[in-house]
Amino acid sequence: MDPTRFQNVPQEVSTGRLPGWHRVEELVRQAHERYAEESSGAVADYIPILAQADPELFGIAVIEVAGGVHDAGDALHPFSIQSISKMFVYALAIAEHGHAHVRDIVGVNNTGLAFNSLMALELNAGHPMNPMVNAGAIATTALVPGATPAEKWETIRQGLSAFAGRQLSMDGEVYRSEAETNDRNRAIGRLLVGYGRLEGDPDEIVDVYTRQCALSVTTHDLAVMGATLADGGVNPVTGERVVSADVCRDTLAVLASTGLYERSGEWLFEIGLPAKSGVAGGIVAVSPGKGAAAAFSPRLDSAGNSVRAQLAIGHLSRALGLNLFASAPHVQELS
Ligand code: GLU
Repeated sequence: MDPTRFQNVPQEVSTGRLPGWHRVEELVRQAHERYAEESSGAVADYIPILAQADPELFGIAVIEVAGGVHDAGDALHPFSIQSISKMFVYALAIAEHGHAHVRDIVGVNNTGLAFNSLMALELNAGHPMNPMVNAGAIATTALVPGATPAEKWETIRQGLSAFAGRQLSMDGEVYRSEAETNDRNRAIGRLLVGYGRLEGDPDEIVDVYTRQCALSVTTHDLAVMGATLADGGVNPVTGERVVSADVCRDTLAVLASTGLYERSGEWLFEIGLPAKSGVAGGIVAVSPGKGAAAAFSPRLDSAGNSVRAQLAIGHLSRALGLNLFASAPHVQELS
């Protein structure tokens, strides 16, 4: 599909509205209460320090584009952003290089394979295919402006801080734990260089990627970050423009088919929202023009998605009418 074919066609936007603040607040509390007893799944342990997380932690946050804030449970408990960083770094890369360039280098399709797969690269002549798996995310990190790895890291930290509306910092313990054990990611970096898909020192790029995954956030932060994408790129809490509305649309479109690992299709089918999850247990879902819902709880399903967070966001998507594919007759049927 050649996007230049739509040049000069005005981009119109059509979305609905959230119910009033009190109703959203009630539903957030209801979702927290309803799924707090859910105990299926297991805490991630392939990054050793993540195994120490308290499995009972459970936070939910909704931020409305109009500025309404809803926090429930452990919404202010810090955890590492992990893979959720990929969507925001992707947005920064598109903001810098434009839609077409990033699409050509990183791709926009689902690989159908695990997030840390080397086979996916081998099967596609080294093309990452998908910015939300590690190969595509490492290639995306390489695109971030900065003459040195330290400058790239600072661009990412500042960029994600603007999405969150506060200065984010890295959790040094999480970083060290992953840096000592991330042989697969280093292998992916080298394979990308081997295929001519990555410029620069792959270990340095993977190190920046490892830092971005170790950024410490709360569920509340994730909801503000997501709400910035729902609000055409303007942070609804600080009022700062972080990225353009076009960058938001591109980022959300990719998430719709890739955000929940190998369960992305199932998620879209059941919940109907662009979302991204990370192995520390966070998920953020974005409802364009309305706001974002985030949830956090460390027990994961076999694909790496927090069980309680999926349930909480699923509940909110349904009850708040966020599913992008849901429709109702224009003229109400007479009963
Ligand atoms: N830092 C993790 C990795 O690269 C992120 C994984 C995830 O959250 O999916 O393996």
